[in-house]
Amino acid sequence: MRVEVDLTRCAGYGNCVEAAPEVFQMSDVADVADVILPEPGDELAESVHKAARVCPADAVVITE
Ligand code: SF4
Repeated sequence: MRVEVDLTRCAGYGNCVEAAPEVFQMSDVADVADVILPEPGDELAESVHKAARVCPADAVVITE
């Protein structure tokens, strides 16, 4: 799977970081999330999908 954050939508809520800290972290330079692991393994699929569900801005983009 491939994971991206749509920065035109991300509003910096941080829910994705809580759901999948191995994949997302808050940016140092802006109030948005950075993807630190853009191609996570299957063992992280559940938490990445959870991150997408809990993002209020619908900004987590997953490509299978
Ligand atoms: S939960 Fe969504 S809006 Fe919040 S930081 Fe993550 S991607 Fe951005």
